[in-house]
Amino acid sequence: MTTEEIASPAPVPVYQDWDDVPEYLLTQTQHAELDLPRKPCQTLAGRVWAKDWARRHAELFDLYDVRASTPTRSTASRSSDAYVCAECGARTERPVKVRDGVGRCPACARVARIAAEQAGTREARARQLVWARGAVADPASVWVYLEYPERTRGPNGRRRPPAGVAITAADAAGRRLLRERVRLAGPRSQDPAAADWPVPLDRALPKLVRTLQGRKLITWCPEHAQALAGWIADGGGEVGWLGSGMRERVVAWRSLVDVRGRAVSTCLDPGRADRMVSLAVRMAEDREVPADARAWLASARGAMLVDIRGDEAAALRLHAMLRMLGVVAVDTDPSPVPDPAVPGAVSLPVWCRPDGMPDPEGPA
Ligand SMILES: [Zn+2]
Repeated sequence: MTTEEIASPAPVPVYQDWDDVPEYLLTQTQHAELDLPRKPCQTLAGRVWAKDWARRHAELFDLYDVRASTPTRSTASRSSDAYVCAECGARTERPVKVRDGVGRCPACARVARIAAEQAGTREARARQLVWARGAVADPASVWVYLEYPERTRGPNGRRRPPAGVAITAADAAGRRLLRERVRLAGPRSQDPAAADWPVPLDRALPKLVRTLQGRKLITWCPEHAQALAGWIADGGGEVGWLGSGMRERVVAWRSLVDVRGRAVSTCLDPGRADRMVSLAVRMAEDREVPADARAWLASARGAMLVDIRGDEAAALRLHAMLRMLGVVAVDTDPSPVPDPAVPGAVSLPVWCRPDGMPDPEGPA
């Protein structure tokens, strides 16, 4: 709950959202809307920032403790659908919240909101399964994780850039390809932490470039991708393909919704490349994998050689279709060879993704 005190006339809590307001604090209008209408007491008990629908911008609304309110002169209880929850049948004191034509009590409104949000995150999760299957099946994939030390402060109190970086890289089988501790601070750096990082970047670059050049690099976050691309370029290498980072995908795959019905937008950091691979494999092996992709679970990881045999023109057309679908894993120009078993026919080998699922963000 985010609250701040305001000074006059007496300090009262200021709520940033209706969700933060205790249920016994109501505005003057809300007092009048009760099924047995009441008049608010004189003492201000709080304020809430909320959107004024008429004026379309956030405004502070005064809140009063309904327990200190007094009955109005009205005698009749309002008896209408506006005070009955259509979901659970509760007879509410305050008018039900109508959403999509259904009036709900606060509990049912929250359940509906959570369910609606969960339906959205479930869809997002399905998209990440497709990505993970493509990434794990692609022999070119490499997971790279950068771990920076805590930044020290200079004499002026400002934080120095990180003194070094620990780089780990692993392939889809979880094999460690790289484990380097590289100094980023200059040779004359005053940073006391620099002593922990003896190996300068330019000495580590050749190995970094040799291991990562031309491969499909999967980092944890966009900042790591950017740093890596810079180092590979500095070392004279070329980046094969660089994604925007896996963190957003993991958040989407976890597809958590909090108890308020909001999609959770953070997740814990895996901390190492091999743990990123474990996570990707777990995403790929998720039981929600559609039936048509289940074959992948039984097959070995990596690309699969499919041999098309028959009429040359038909084989080339089939290859073009597979390529268009994104199923072709190693995309070289088709090279049919005469099929020794059938005169006049050809054999056209094509490396395919075993799960048949293209990477939606991979190279065309
Ligand atoms: Zn209800």
